[in-house]
Amino acid sequence: MRERFWERYSLGELNAREWEALCDGCGQCCLVREVDQGEVTVYSVACDLLDIEQSRCSDYASRLRREPSCHQLTPANVEQYDWLPASCSYRRIHRGEPLPAWHPLLAGSRQRMRRKGITVCGYAVPRRQVPRRRMGQHIIARWRM
Ligand code: SF4
Repeated sequence: MRERFWERYSLGELNAREWEALCDGCGQCCLVREVDQGEVTVYSVACDLLDIEQSRCSDYASRLRREPSCHQLTPANVEQYDWLPASCSYRRIHRGEPLPAWHPLLAGSRQRMRRKGITVCGYAVPRRQVPRRRMGQHIIARWRM
């Protein structure tokens, strides 16, 4: 990977390794959400493919086939994903914002972001454990895009 590539290149100029390394692994984009007439509701309920303890997809290579609601971020479509968390590295670089100091590329590991509660491992529950009628108890954020 090129030195401090996240400061020197646009998303479209990154190579495949740099693109993957940019993901901080927070797992927030793997939480269930609803987008309805410009309003986003996020639940503390994770996609069943998410390894919550590691906040990593357990089948990254096949995720798009196995989970129809999964999205593939690309440099060309990141602008459409207004529901991504403000901390999301792709969103931040796309907007010309710096990476936060806790990002693994700067901090050297994921320990700091875990301590700060950026990863979902401290609160997410698997979707298979939450009946539809109980989803309302798991709302953690709601905003207008
Ligand atoms: S929200 Fe962004 S930085 Fe966090 S896991 Fe998803 S793609 Fe990676």
